[in-house]
Amino acid sequence: MKGMMMHQPLLVSEILEFGAGAYPKAEIVSVRTEGDIHRETLVEFRERTIQLAHGLKAHGVELGDRVATLAWNGYRHMELYYAISGIGAVCHTINPRLSAEQMIYIVNHAEDKVLFLDTTFVPLIAAVKDHLPKDMTYVIMTDKAHMPDAPFEALCYEDLLEGQPTEIEWPLFDEETACGLCYTSGTTGNPKGALYSHRSTVLHGMMMSVMQTTTFNEGLSVLPVVPLFHVNAWGLPYSSLLSGMNMVMPGPALDGESLFKLMDQEKVFSAWGVPTIWQGLLGEIEKQGRKPEGFGDVVIGGSAAPRSMIEAFEKMDVSVGHAWGMTEMSPVGTHGIMPKWMENEPFDTRIDYKSKQGRRCFGVELKLVDEDGNRLPHDGKAVGELYVRGNTVVSGYFKNEEASAKALDSEGWFGTGDVATIDPNGFLSIQDRAKDLIKSGGEWISSIDLENIAMAHPAIAQAAAIGVAHPRWDERPILVAVAAEGAEKPDLDEVREHLSEHFAKWQLPDDVVWVDSIPLTATGKFSKLNLRKQLADYKHPELRETA
Ligand code: AMP
Repeated sequence: MKGMMMHQPLLVSEILEFGAGAYPKAEIVSVRTEGDIHRETLVEFRERTIQLAHGLKAHGVELGDRVATLAWNGYRHMELYYAISGIGAVCHTINPRLSAEQMIYIVNHAEDKVLFLDTTFVPLIAAVKDHLPKDMTYVIMTDKAHMPDAPFEALCYEDLLEGQPTEIEWPLFDEETACGLCYTSGTTGNPKGALYSHRSTVLHGMMMSVMQTTTFNEGLSVLPVVPLFHVNAWGLPYSSLLSGMNMVMPGPALDGESLFKLMDQEKVFSAWGVPTIWQGLLGEIEKQGRKPEGFGDVVIGGSAAPRSMIEAFEKMDVSVGHAWGMTEMSPVGTHGIMPKWMENEPFDTRIDYKSKQGRRCFGVELKLVDEDGNRLPHDGKAVGELYVRGNTVVSGYFKNEEASAKALDSEGWFGTGDVATIDPNGFLSIQDRAKDLIKSGGEWISSIDLENIAMAHPAIAQAAAIGVAHPRWDERPILVAVAAEGAEKPDLDEVREHLSEHFAKWQLPDDVVWVDSIPLTATGKFSKLNLRKQLADYKHPELRETA
């Protein structure tokens, strides 16, 4: 027997209508590329988004067309999110840190019809334009007064809005219609496109506002440092409107000093981003001898949050939510909110738990399997490859049959490529990327664990652990490290001594290679691929001695 309830499609336009109707005074505050600060209420945001939607239609954008954005976090980028999806087109966010080759590939693969870009990216597009679709319309995201002298034909963003009506009848269509597209940077082969639907996006937005309870409070401000150009800024453009939070958009300057100043000025309560960003902010906090006013919550994800970082935030009464996810998961899969019973546990136990990647979000199922595909227990000990299933997980890749065929297992679960444990309390602990695990004498060593503990040493700012070839043990771990500013580099014995409290002797690195910086991927994670390339001529100390 079927239930007798209405069926309204879950559409992104309804989030906009809800936000502007329920929280008309909530604001989007943006640092503009023009240099000043811009503020708009959700009512103004809705009106401008509607004008933009009309402007897009006037320029021939139709249901299913792909419209690309190459932009920092700001109100115009937010307007694009809602206007493009609202009319049934697909918002394709491009990561400006991709190589020219990758950018050319994804714009052509997506068959983008229009490309919106911040003034900052005019030179970038000028350099690759000859390799992009010939009939592409370019729109520069600024007003007439600030239009740069671009070496290609381009429209002005504010011109698209000018004179357009501020009301619209949003079209209704199937909730499975695509609304967003984001390519994974991919370490091998070409980038692959995750094509989000209205349904998955609305569900993800709702799921986040329900799970991330420390953040989502009406009237408080949230700072997405995580970029709108990568996996929908972890869903914040949607969850913020659903919960009535003010959004504070940082624009291009993401250094510690700029972030501190903005957070202080706008009394940001919650800030979201990858660990490398927080290192800069923590440095500034130390310099100033205080945290920004009103700062009480930080969400860290994208790569493992080092224990020392979690400890530093918690000691200044900033609650850390350590989350895990993937582009293919919209992206959030687990969240780091602590269960109530944890409150009375000693500080160190709580930090241990916060160092894990948290518990699953509603609607995201997790399973661990061994190399033969057999399920492993969630006992906190069994280490296996992590598979996920749910309404916010991809079922394949955009226009890529080969990759789609490999994405799911025979039971329809998506293979994350992460290796993990899950404990009886439901806490996920990511041990490594499957291909980054170090296997010494048949035993696995977690590079993430080594890195985390190494970075707790006061003289080590950054550390990446990789396996290098060894004749007897197959692979042995070494540490590639960046010294903290002004610190004297500890020698290998001291580093091993520091690590030995947490690791067995055979798990300790055999060498420390000091570098000025560790290469990062386009999404701000350590690029083990480039690191390995950089160290192509590196030989294990024992091999050097016998050579
Ligand atoms: P991306 O699709 O670029 O967002 O990358 C997803 C991958 O980042 C995951 O499969 C993990 O390997 C890694 N990752 C994301 N969040 C975390 C986290 N909190 N801890 C460890 N690894 C993470």
